Order: sequence, then C-alpha cells, then structure tokens
Amino acid sequence: MLNTTLPVQINHRRFVSDNAKLQGIIPLQRFERFIALVEDEAGEVEAQLEFKKARKHRSLVIGQLRTKVSVICQNCMAPTQIELDTELSVLVVNSEEALAQLHEDDDGLVCEDELILLVDLLEDELILALPMVGKHEEGKCQSALGNAVKALSAVKPFSGDECEEREEGQESQKGASKDTYRPFAGLADLTADMVLKKEE
Ligand SMILES: [Zn+2]
Repeated sequence: MLNTTLPVQINHRRFVSDNAKLQGIIPLQRFERFIALVEDEAGEVEAQLEFKKARKHRSLVIGQLRTKVSVICQNCMAPTQIELDTELSVLVVNSEEALAQLHEDDDGLVCEDELILLVDLLEDELILALPMVGKHEEGKCQSALGNAVKALSAVKPFSGDECEEREEGQESQKGASKDTYRPFAGLADLTADMVLKKEE
C-alpha cells in the first residue's frame, strides 16, 4: 500500500467529505524548494494523510511524513544521510484574511480552489523538519577529512594581509577568537579602530 505513488493534485473537499485517508509515496523531485536544501534529489517521501472536516467548512489535513535525505555534515563536510519523520496538521483556508485570523499554533494554507497540489500542502512541513545543522551521528564523522577541514578553518582567518598589519598588542585577541572567528571578526576590527583612535 505504501508504495503507491500519490497524485500530484487532489480534491481536498471531496477527500474531506469522504473522511478519506491517503497513504503512499511522493518522489522527492516534486519538492523543488526542499531538494534545493539537500544533497541528493533521488528518493521519496512516505506520506500518511487524513482529511477531516474543520470549523467554517475548512479542510484539516493531518498526517505523517517520512523520508531519508543526504545533507552535508557540518563537522567533517562529508555527505551524511539523515532520516526525517515529522507530523503535520494543516488547515486549508480560502483567503489570505482567513489565514491571518488563524490561531498562531495552527498551520494554514490558502487554496481558493477545491483542487490542491500535494506538494503545496506538504513541502513547508518537510522543510521545517530539516535540522538547522546537518551532522553525522556521534563518532561517525570522516575524521581525516574532518581534521583537515578543522585545521584549514583555524588557519584561514589569520593568513590574510590584514592580520600581518596588526600590532603586537592584538596577539591575545587573535588567540581568543580562534574558535569563534566569524562572530568576532567584525568586533576585532572595531576594537582595532578604537585602539588607533585612542593613540591619535
Ligand atoms: Zn561528519
């Protein structure tokens, strides 16, 4: 049952009046915004959906989505496969105004028509299920490459000409900012300016 490929478009009103359940797979390629965020577009999403009548003649779609996607591990920069398993609950409303009036905990989707694209219904939930930072499981990183990347990122910020021009007094700050280069890079420049101004 789960290997049925789901249609691109469904009639949500008819599904609701039938209290229908929908179960099947959707090729990942259909989710254009989602696959732009992952490494590999081969694969599929398993979806189990239920269509229910909600207040004000709205359609409520609840269900579960499961998929495996490849992302770049931010520790070792090698691809790693992660499993996503997320629940969804989406109210289909017929206007932007109705969407704005939904309770802040409710996810809504505007669809004036009785036909709706499954991708429109599901894609946001899939994107939200992606972790902010992709990582291998603990201890599964490709260590040789990972160490090389770490070494590179530790050296890179201080190899520019800008750094060589800094005075001896900046030495301790350089050391302190080694592990957190990005957030403090601007700050270091700022304090350097301040030091120069004081000396004038
Ligand atoms: Zn890794």
